[in-house]
Amino acid sequence: MTYKKIGIIIGILCLMMSMHSVVFANKFIETDTVTMTNPLTGVTGNYQPVNLMMGGEDVITDVPGILYTSGSNTRTLVPISFIVDRMGATISWQQETREITIDTAGKQIVMQIDNAYATVNGTKTKLPDGIAPILLAFGNQNKTFVPVKFISEQLGLEINWIGDTRTVAINKPVQTLTNVYLDYLKQFPEIRMKVTGEVDATSFVISGSDVGEQDKIVIDLQNTKFELDDPSMLKNGVGTYRVGDGIFGIDRVEISLNGTNPPTTRATVFLDEKRGHRVFYDETTHEMVIQLINTVNDVQMENTYGTDTVVIETSERPAYNINLIGDQIVVDVFNSVLKADEGLSTIVPVNKGKIESYGYSQLDTSQYGTEDLYTSKDVITRVAIALTEAVTYDDIYIEDDGTNIKVFVAQNPLNNFDYVRLNTAKSHVSIHLFDGSNFTKAYDSKTRTLTLKLPVASTDLNDFTYPVDDNIVRAVNIARSGDQYIVSIQLIQNTTYTDNSTADDIIFAFTNNTILNSNYTDTLIVIDPGHGGHDSGAVGTLAKEKDLALQASLSLENQLKQLGFKVYMTRSKDVYPGLYDRADIANDLNADLFVSVHINAHTNTAATGVEVLCNSESMTGGKGLATAIQKELVSDLNAVDRGVVQRPNLVVLRETKMPSVLCELGFISNASDQAKLMDPAYLDKAAGAIVDGIVKFLK
Ligand SMILES: [Zn+2]
Repeated sequence: MTYKKIGIIIGILCLMMSMHSVVFANKFIETDTVTMTNPLTGVTGNYQPVNLMMGGEDVITDVPGILYTSGSNTRTLVPISFIVDRMGATISWQQETREITIDTAGKQIVMQIDNAYATVNGTKTKLPDGIAPILLAFGNQNKTFVPVKFISEQLGLEINWIGDTRTVAINKPVQTLTNVYLDYLKQFPEIRMKVTGEVDATSFVISGSDVGEQDKIVIDLQNTKFELDDPSMLKNGVGTYRVGDGIFGIDRVEISLNGTNPPTTRATVFLDEKRGHRVFYDETTHEMVIQLINTVNDVQMENTYGTDTVVIETSERPAYNINLIGDQIVVDVFNSVLKADEGLSTIVPVNKGKIESYGYSQLDTSQYGTEDLYTSKDVITRVAIALTEAVTYDDIYIEDDGTNIKVFVAQNPLNNFDYVRLNTAKSHVSIHLFDGSNFTKAYDSKTRTLTLKLPVASTDLNDFTYPVDDNIVRAVNIARSGDQYIVSIQLIQNTTYTDNSTADDIIFAFTNNTILNSNYTDTLIVIDPGHGGHDSGAVGTLAKEKDLALQASLSLENQLKQLGFKVYMTRSKDVYPGLYDRADIANDLNADLFVSVHINAHTNTAATGVEVLCNSESMTGGKGLATAIQKELVSDLNAVDRGVVQRPNLVVLRETKMPSVLCELGFISNASDQAKLMDPAYLDKAAGAIVDGIVKFLK
């Protein structure tokens, strides 16, 4: 969705709406009330914060939207920055008269602080319920709050109030979907959905195959009903379009109504293999289009097998081409759209080993002719790796890892060594030998290290340290010492090995017996690291909630997998999945438990301790899980017990159908708590406490 910001704010208004000194960011959704003082009257009030959604996307503001009551009337007021940022309006401010002028194409709205009347294109209009714009001090800044419904409607948008989750949803006018079909004659297969007019679409991917389920792309058409022209597609309220024969990796598309307030039509694309996608509106045919095309979602550096590696993350098995051009390695990912950095060309400095920097962009092929490598129709994302010295093709090693392309600026870093993970409990190591199986093995049960020594003449290995950390093997280290290679393989607790070596290969098989014999292999836990991407969550003096929550969640994932649990992460990097999407993912995967991980904040910097929030009152449901986790957190972290808190209006707790909790692991606003939370060992301990709570709850 795009609401272009037409104007910018200048002058004194900056003071009123400064985006700086954000202390609590989107913290409000976790707090029941926000206390603010009216600087003109000196009156302090407690306000209930509201979630804001526009075109189906959560809107993260620096100051919360609030419920404001005057007499018997309650209205939602939003910080004026919301109007500027999301509704494409230009705003100006008159300090003396405290007048706000909102300009959009064809409309001018003038409002005044504490004045129940506005003028719209010069005509005086009473504001709904007579609730006027107000000033409220948030932190040390005065913020202007305006009635969101009035402005939305004046701007031709529709507004819905979702009381359960205290959410305001603003959308383009309602439309109807009437047909869905696959157009496979297009350059890329397109699922086309006929609509009566343009709507906003949001989408998310469920990588079900990661936990033994089906992969899906879910597209929600906001403020859209559906009435299929062909009623024979409809069964039990769900319209099904079958693709058949798994063509293009698509099994079928299901159309269903996903909520009525506002109406949302959901298209779920069931996949036989992982596919990338993008969604757009075709205004010539009035169709919302799901184009199945690969996407480059991220490019980053990673240390793999002890070697600095450029990892290109895509959505489906990639097709690509590699060229050496001067001292650059150029990777062209075919049939792909750049989604990383919102499609903007980006260069990232590295200055490590032979890599100076890497960059990525959507290749502009529009002027390409017959002389060029590609045609003007080709859709290509280009990743260029700038090197500190020229290399040859022999110096580059590429590894395909499902949907990732890994580019090593090194000869095969593994050489004759290989490590293969077979499933969650089993893996093996192999070393190919040129010359007879002549090696010694020794196992130190204290350090759980298997050490192999073999003559240098028997094979060819590179020195490296590989932190495997896959819940079976901790790490592998290979070092040459005189005329021997010493291969040290450190195992995870309860991993055993068997020697299956042959004359040509050293082969050791590893089994994590805890995982193999686990009672939890069919128990799926969805972990939801709070916030992410443009939503920092609470911001401390030294750290951000989104980063600490992710770190604790990754530790939680690892510790749960170590016990044999199936785990699905709503995010495993710095991105923002929508709140409703997070719950939908857990529901779709039919998860057994849902655990959201957050860090708390309070204006009172003395506030400290842990708390777990839940929706359900049931001790076999969310409250039972929350109680079990809270008990472990308090004792393991030796933290102040703030108790289990009932919070039924939080989206992720309310919308999830399984026992769900939201853990607050401490206060980022408290200096001592923040220092603890920034210690990875403390987050590991907190994650361990959550694991203990989960295990006790499931007993
Ligand atoms: Zn949070």
